[in-house]
Amino acid sequence: MKNVQTKPNKLFTIAIVGAPNVGKSTFFNKLIGGRRSIVEDQPGITRDKIYADVNLARWSDEDKDFFVRIIDTGGLFFREESLFQGVQRQAESSIEEADCIIFVTDARAGVTTTDTLVAKMLRERTKKNPKPVILLTNKIDSTELETLSAEFYNLGFGEPLAFSSLGTTFKRSVNDLLARIQEVVKQDKDEYESSIEKNPQLRVVILGKPNVGKSSLLNSLVGYERALVHDEAGTTRDALDTELIYKDKEFLLIDTAGLRRKSKVYGELERFSVDRTIKGLVRADVAVLVMDATALSTIEGVSNQEKKLASLIQSRFKACVIVLNKWDLIEKTENIFDEYNKLIKYHLKFVDYAPVVITSASTGQRVENILEQCLKVNESYNRRISTGLLNNVFRELTTIHEPAKAGAKDLKIYYLTQVETKPPTFALFVNEPKKVKESYLRFLERSLRQEFDFEGTPIKWVIKKSQKKKV
Ligand code: GDP
Ligand code: GDP
Repeated sequence: MKNVQTKPNKLFTIAIVGAPNVGKSTFFNKLIGGRRSIVEDQPGITRDKIYADVNLARWSDEDKDFFVRIIDTGGLFFREESLFQGVQRQAESSIEEADCIIFVTDARAGVTTTDTLVAKMLRERTKKNPKPVILLTNKIDSTELETLSAEFYNLGFGEPLAFSSLGTTFKRSVNDLLARIQEVVKQDKDEYESSIEKNPQLRVVILGKPNVGKSSLLNSLVGYERALVHDEAGTTRDALDTELIYKDKEFLLIDTAGLRRKSKVYGELERFSVDRTIKGLVRADVAVLVMDATALSTIEGVSNQEKKLASLIQSRFKACVIVLNKWDLIEKTENIFDEYNKLIKYHLKFVDYAPVVITSASTGQRVENILEQCLKVNESYNRRISTGLLNNVFRELTTIHEPAKAGAKDLKIYYLTQVETKPPTFALFVNEPKKVKESYLRFLERSLRQEFDFEGTPIKWVIKKSQKKKV
C-alpha cells in the first residue's frame, strides 16, 4: 500500500551499569513502568540483555515526548566468575551500543570496592570512545539522606545524582535525571533530535469475531512483500505483530488471532479468546474493532461477542476505531452511512466515543482510512488541555448547568484539571465528592468532548476533595 513503509528509528540508548544489589533492576522496572516493551531485532542487539523503549516524559510535567532506549544487563552471574568479573562482562556488552551510561551505586552502603572497580573499568572503556556517564547514588529515599551522596564525588564522574526508586522522592529524582539526560542529548543534538520529538510507536490491536475480514484488512494494509514478521523467540514483541510506517508514524499492529498466518484450511479454527484479547488490548493504545457490515442489517445485528469486545475495550480505557467492512456488499442508499452509524452507536454503547470507518478489504476501498483514523483517535488519546483553558470553559459550563440545580445541594465545584493522558483523565475538585452525580459527570464529559475534540478516546474522572477555591 502506498504511504506505508517499514523502518525503525534510532533512539538515544542508555546502559545501566553497577555492582549487584545497588538497585539496577528496580530502577529499570520502575522507569519503564513494569512494561518490558519492544525488543528490536536490529543488528548488534543480543539477548543477554533486556531493552525497553520508554517515554521518560511520562514521569515529568513536560508535554514533549522524550523517548530513550534503556538496556538492563540484568543480574546474571556465572558460578566461576568473581563478582567484579560478572559486572564487567555484563557492563561491557552494553557499553558498546550505549550513547550514555548510568552508573548506579548504593548510597547507603557507601563507596564499595566493586564501585571503585566499575569506575575504573568505565574510565578505561570510554577513553577511546568517550561517552557521558551519569553517576546515580541510589536508595536516597528521603531528602535527609542526600548528604550520603558526597563521598561518591571521589569516583570521578562529577556530581552524583541523588536517586530513589522506592522512596517518595522517586518522581523528583526522575525529573532530575531527565534534565541530566536531556543535557547530554543536547550536546549531540543533530544525531538524536529524533529522540526528543520522535513520535512514539502507535500500538494498534485488531479485534473482531471470525470472518468479518480482519486478515484480509491486515494483509491489505501491510502487503505481503513489505511484511516484517518478527518470529524470533525471546523477544517481548509477539511473534505475530507487524510493524509499518504510515505518514511518518511507526505503527505496531498487534494480532491476537494469528491473522497473518491464517491458512485457508485452518482459518475457521480461529476462536474467540478473552484471554488473548485482553493480552493484546493491554499492549495497545488503539483498538480497531472490525465488523461485517452485511451482518449489521440482519436480525442478529450486533452479536454478543462484539458487545463483549466493546466492553473489554472500554474497561481497559483504550482508544477505539470501529471498522464496518464488506461495504462493497451493501446496497447504497442516500442515508445509508448515517443509518449504520446510528445502529452501531445504539448497539455498542460501550464505545460510543469511537469513529466509524467503512471499508472493503476486497476492493481495497478506504482501507488506508483505518490508519488515518488511528492517528486521529491517538491524538485525542494523548491530548492534554491546560488547566487555564479548561477552567475558562468550565466556568461557562457551570453557568449553563449548576450542579446545585441538578439536585446536589451544597455541592461546590472548585476547579478542573487534567492529570493524565492515555486516556485523558480529569480531576474535579469539590467540597463533597459523594455529592457529585453521574449525570453531572456525563454532562461535563459531553461538553469537553465537544469543546476539545476527544473523538475516539475514553475519558476518565477522578473526584477530589478540596477545601478552598483555587480558580
Ligand atoms: P540489582 O542487583 O542492582 O539489580 O538490584 P535490585 O534492583 O535487585 O535491588 C537490590 C535491593 O535494593 C532490593 O532489595 C531492592 O528492593 C532494594 N532497592 C532498590 N532500589 C531501592 C531504593 O530506591 N530504595 C531502597 N530503600 N531500596 C531499594
Ligand atoms: P477474519 O476471520 O476476520 O480474519 O476474516 P477473513 O479476512 O478471513 O475474511 C473472511 C471472508 O470474508 C473471506 O472469504 C474474505 O474473502 C471475505 N472478505 C473479507 N473482507 C471482505 C470485503 O471487504 N468484501 C467482501 N465481499 N468480502 C470480504
